[in-house]
Amino acid sequence: MKDLNMTIECVCPFCGKVQLVRVNSDDYDKWENGELVQRAFPYLTPSQREALMTGICDDCWPS
Ligand SMILES: [Zn+2]
Repeated sequence: MKDLNMTIECVCPFCGKVQLVRVNSDDYDKWENGELVQRAFPYLTPSQREALMTGICDDCWPS
């Protein structure tokens, strides 16, 4: 299990809700360097990955 030593604050562009997503800082570096989000963070849920990429929260994501 990786140490999730970094907390990303994701603000929903629609409702302003703040979501905190905990990740590993090495994985975050990989993501910033172009790694696909699902490869960089295999331990996150799809909605957490969405929050990282766009900030859109579950409530605002069209279902
Ligand atoms: Zn929202």
